[in-house]
Amino acid sequence: MFNALVVEKDEESGKTSAAVKQITVDDLPHGEVLVAVEYSTVNYKDGLCVGPGGGLVRNYPHVPGIDFAGIVEESSDDRYKPGDKVVLTGWRVGEAHWGGYAQKARVKADWLVPLPDGLDSRQAMAVGTAGFTAMLAVMALEDHGLKPGHGPVLVTGAAGGVGSVATAILANLGHEVAAVTGRPDQEDYLRSLGATQIVARDELTEVTKKPLEAEQWSGCVDAVAGAMLGRVLKQMKYGTSVAAIGLAGGPAIEGALITPFILRGVNLLGIDSVMQPYENRTRAWDRIARDLPMDKLEAMVQPACLGDLPELGRDILKGQVKGRVVVDVN
Ligand code: NDP
Repeated sequence: MFNALVVEKDEESGKTSAAVKQITVDDLPHGEVLVAVEYSTVNYKDGLCVGPGGGLVRNYPHVPGIDFAGIVEESSDDRYKPGDKVVLTGWRVGEAHWGGYAQKARVKADWLVPLPDGLDSRQAMAVGTAGFTAMLAVMALEDHGLKPGHGPVLVTGAAGGVGSVATAILANLGHEVAAVTGRPDQEDYLRSLGATQIVARDELTEVTKKPLEAEQWSGCVDAVAGAMLGRVLKQMKYGTSVAAIGLAGGPAIEGALITPFILRGVNLLGIDSVMQPYENRTRAWDRIARDLPMDKLEAMVQPACLGDLPELGRDILKGQVKGRVVVDVN
């Protein structure tokens, strides 16, 4: 028997409830690799899946947790053997397949990535899907020409998980970072991660009809979308790129016009972490181990345990989680 956060659905009322329960290995879904989970974390999707599911969960009872890091216990796949340290993000684990909010998880070998040298499992989950996706965004901006010295890079939703890691990585790579936040009390935190300019969220949430604004940003990691992305696109310097990760401010790009794309050659790069090919996953984890300063990562961490998850799930849906939650499932 081991502990898991199990979400159950009452068929009559349709309501879901989450509680820590004891389950067995036989309860776990099929897969080639059994992992002794050490740490997981809390993402926006986890908030949905710990709660009513938001359309992501197919079947109940369900064990959420869209990412985890741990040690291989059993494997029928040649790529992994007992004792290997692994990390998992994406592939709809924690949504369609049982996830990391348990002391053990059984998954497909294809979904795992070996933990890179220089990162332990706690650090890997301090990074988590949010930080991994932030790294994918930085790599996409670099692949499209971003270099230090080109001017400030904007990070939206900066005090959140994606934004915190993006800020720390970009600053460490030598970029000037302008951090957008709706929480003025987080200014010291953002400066400690390396932001040199703080932009108040209110400055970017008004939808305007202007076709273009003054050129300000040499790149942008955007976790917010909504009206903010519509405004940011009009403020990008000629030939630069925005990496679009999230929708914390709404699913549309409000007030967006074609002008930044056709008059300034601005690129909008879509970033998906769920279906990333293996080669790009290992490339991103290696870059994280190299380019994310571990002392900055530690400053983002808020520790938690399985029993804290129902409340943390509600908090992240309200945009009230700071930095990165690390869940010790044991
Ligand atoms: P967090 O909740 O940790 O951070 C989101 C941040 O966005 C908040 O902290 C807040 O930052 C800001 N924010 C929240 N609400 C609003 C609003 N209404 N208007 C403007 N800003 C707002 O979430 P994550 O960082 O983990 O994830 C961010 C987004 O990225 C989510 O939409 C998530 O689903 C998505 N995502 C996508 C992935 C992909 O594969 N593409 C992978 C991982 C995440 P502040 O307080 O500083 O203003």
